[in-house]
Amino acid sequence: ATASLLSEFDGNGATADGHLVPLLSNVGGAKDAVAAAALNAQGVGLFRTEFCFLERETEPTVEEQAAAYKGVFDAFPGKKVVLRTLDAGADKPLPFLTDATEPNPALGVRGYRTDTTTPGVLARQLQAIAQAEQASEADVWVMAPMISTAEEAARFAGMCAEAGIKTPGVMVEVPSAALTAESILREVGFASLGTNDLTQYAMAADRQLGPLAALNSPWQPAVLRLVGLTVEGSAAEGHNKPVGVCGEAAADPALAVVLTGLGVTTLSMTARSIAAVAAVLKTVTLEEAQELAKLALSAPSAAEARALVRAKLPVLEELG
Ligand code: PEP
Ligand code: MG
Repeated sequence: ATASLLSEFDGNGATADGHLVPLLSNVGGAKDAVAAAALNAQGVGLFRTEFCFLERETEPTVEEQAAAYKGVFDAFPGKKVVLRTLDAGADKPLPFLTDATEPNPALGVRGYRTDTTTPGVLARQLQAIAQAEQASEADVWVMAPMISTAEEAARFAGMCAEAGIKTPGVMVEVPSAALTAESILREVGFASLGTNDLTQYAMAADRQLGPLAALNSPWQPAVLRLVGLTVEGSAAEGHNKPVGVCGEAAADPALAVVLTGLGVTTLSMTARSIAAVAAVLKTVTLEEAQELAKLALSAPSAAEARALVRAKLPVLEELG
C-alpha cells in the first residue's frame, strides 16, 4: 500500500475537497532543484542560497552568484522559486559575513542583520538575483531571513525595488515577526514561516541540542499559536498575502494537515517528503483540517497534540 500511495503524487497538492495547497521543495542548489523537479515538486519554497557558498572565505562575485541562482531557476521554468537571501550565522557561518567570536550566535548578527555590519553584500546579492531572473523563466520571489520588525521588512522591500525585484517577502522565524505579522505584511508581498527557528526562539531551546529535542517540537502549542497569529495578520485589512511554511514541520504529514487547517497557503519541504504529505492531505477536507488544527491548538502539550491529530488520520498507518 505504501508504494502505491507514494507513487500517486501528480504535482497538484490539494485536500479531498479540492482546496489547493502547492507542495514546494526546499533546495540548496541546482542539483537539489533538478531532483525536486523530477519528484514533481510544484516549485521551490526555500532556496537556501548560503548553501552555495559555505566553503567560501570571500564574497562570491555577482556573476558567480547569478550563475548559481540561474541553475535553480532553470529547473523550474514557469514555476515559483522562492529564494532566500544569505542566512549566514549561528548554524551556518560564512567567513565573509559572520563574526566567529560572537558569544551567542543564534541571537547575534545573522541573516538579514548582517547588512548592518557588512553593508553591500545584500545589495550585490539582490543585483545577482535580478540578473539571473532576467535570464530565466522562473517566477522568482525573494525573501529575507531573520526579520524581526516591520521597519526591517520595509527596508528590505525598498532594497528589492531598487534592484528591480518585484516580489519581496520575509521569513517569519522570530516570534516578534509572528506577533507583528499584520504590520510586517503591509510592507512586503508574502511571508514564509521558518518553523525550525521559530520553534527554537519561541521555546528558547537551541535547535542543535539533542537533549532539548522535546522542547524543540513544532507541535508545541506555543508554536502553533504563532503560526495561527501570522496567518491572522496576513488576512487583516484584507491584504490576504500568502503565508507558506518552509520549516521541517511541513514535511511531517500530520502536521502539514494542521498547518493547512491553520490557513497556511503553501508547504515547502525536502523533496522526498512531498509524496507522503500529498497522500495524507488528500484524505481530509479543508474543514476537517481546520477541526484538526483546533484540536492541536487546544492540546496541553506537543506530544498530546501530535497523538490526538494522528489518531484522526488513519491513512498514516498505511504510510508506516
Ligand atoms: C527555518 O528556520 O525553519 C528555516 C526554514 O530556515 P533554516 O532551517 O535554514 O534556518
Ligand atoms: Mg531559519
